[in-house]
Amino acid sequence: MTDTRAAELLRRVPDTLLVAGCRQQASDGARFAVRDPATGEIIKEIADATVADGVTALDAACDAAETWAGTPARTRAEILRRAFDLLTRRTDDLALLMTLEMGKPLAEARGEVAYGAEFLRWFGEEAVRIQGRYGANPAGTGRMIVTQHPVGPCFLITPWNFPLAMATRKIAPALAAGCTVVVKPAALTPLTTLAFAELLAEAGVPDGVVNVVTTTRTGPVSERIIRDPRLRKLSFTGSTPVGQLLLRQASDGVLRTSMELGGNAPFVVFDDADLAAAVDGAVAAKFRNVGQACTAANRFIVHSSVAEEFARRVTERVQAFRTGPGTDDGVTIGPLIDDRAVAKASELVADAVRRGATLRTGGKPLDGPGSFFPATVLSDVPAGSDILREEIFGPVLVVVPFDTEDDAVRLANDTEYGLVSYVYTRDLARGQRMIERLATGMMGLNAGVVSDAAAPFGGWKFSGLGREGGAEGIHEYLQTKYTLTADP
Ligand code: NAD
Repeated sequence: MTDTRAAELLRRVPDTLLVAGCRQQASDGARFAVRDPATGEIIKEIADATVADGVTALDAACDAAETWAGTPARTRAEILRRAFDLLTRRTDDLALLMTLEMGKPLAEARGEVAYGAEFLRWFGEEAVRIQGRYGANPAGTGRMIVTQHPVGPCFLITPWNFPLAMATRKIAPALAAGCTVVVKPAALTPLTTLAFAELLAEAGVPDGVVNVVTTTRTGPVSERIIRDPRLRKLSFTGSTPVGQLLLRQASDGVLRTSMELGGNAPFVVFDDADLAAAVDGAVAAKFRNVGQACTAANRFIVHSSVAEEFARRVTERVQAFRTGPGTDDGVTIGPLIDDRAVAKASELVADAVRRGATLRTGGKPLDGPGSFFPATVLSDVPAGSDILREEIFGPVLVVVPFDTEDDAVRLANDTEYGLVSYVYTRDLARGQRMIERLATGMMGLNAGVVSDAAAPFGGWKFSGLGREGGAEGIHEYLQTKYTLTADP
């Protein structure tokens, strides 16, 4: 049943670029394969854009820019709201498509559709609340008017781990602000974006406002677009090294940029924590998306008096997980995105064990087709282990004990990243101190999942620049103008 539905769904997804409302093949006819990570099999072949195709897509975004910027905010809002309704109605289709190209269990894919759709509703609501200021200047000689304007054509680069939500989190605020866009999804998961772009057209987004370029020639295509003087904004979600490269490219054009980069989230459990709640939060913060989230807890820093009990309880929970293709009922751990991700998780675990960590469960890749790595728990992980420094991006939970609050803070902040932290404590004063002391852009206090379309998502330090979501999100796509009108 799922097979027939999947085949029909895949047949309906365009295999083309979307430029100025036209579906077109790459100018040199090249195509590339998209695979199901649960089987390794090719599920579809699609257009592989050239540099020239990237330029044509930007041409389309530039041509549509003025009309879209001049479209009443209420009209833009209503289109976004229609897109929210359509997406919500098609949850099952979009979820299945995501599971097929990315691997996450279907229940989680449905959750991502709900989360991703929320950005369309939220920014539709924000579109009609773009505010300005008006007032007399201090000298009393004139009036000061402050207005907000769309920045212009934007280039949006999204990663493979949340193929829908990372696209809506950028496209919705851009469209709400009155900007046109070229979107480049990750080559591993382009189908969800192609299907979503169809849905946007159906919701009433005019031709040329959203253009989609799928490509494996990522570096050259992106660099050409970024260096084009007509481009006014780059928004990137992905790894820190690629973000740094793109910032260098963007600097020549003094391009506005938003960077949602890597993370290495600490999850701190104090001795006064509600341990059952901490274990629930840990499971959500670690194993959601099979650990492939920038917000995934990377290091569990647990007070030594409860570390053993915490490790025992999470191990028990993990051993009840079911690993398999995301399309199978009851599966909690789907495949990782590819064999490279499996090799990375294996190497990080092996390094920690070599240095003396205790492997409580999991730890070895699974045989057979597909890129599977089981949920794994390591405790007593020694300082200096690679797994404490690197973003794991896999289902490996790492426990590190601590003794004092100062130690916990030092360990938590001992990373170049600063995206999110999690803290479990029942002591309100301690919770307040942690808000002050942990160097992250977001924090879950007795909460294992923080993402919300209504909240400013983003990191400190090497985790990035700018915010997506919340009241802040739309400002990434707006520029300020101050006008002085002299009194007559
Ligand atoms: P990645 O950096 O390899 O790729 C991200 C995107 O950049 C993809 O579309 C890819 O095709 C593109 N890309 C790669 N090389 C490029 C180049 N030279 N020029 C232009 N584009 C290029 O990252 P990934 O493996 O797809 O995603 C995982 C990373 O993303 C992790 O580090 C994760 O933490 C991060 N991430 C961050 C957030 C956030 O909001 N902070 C959210 C999700 C993922």
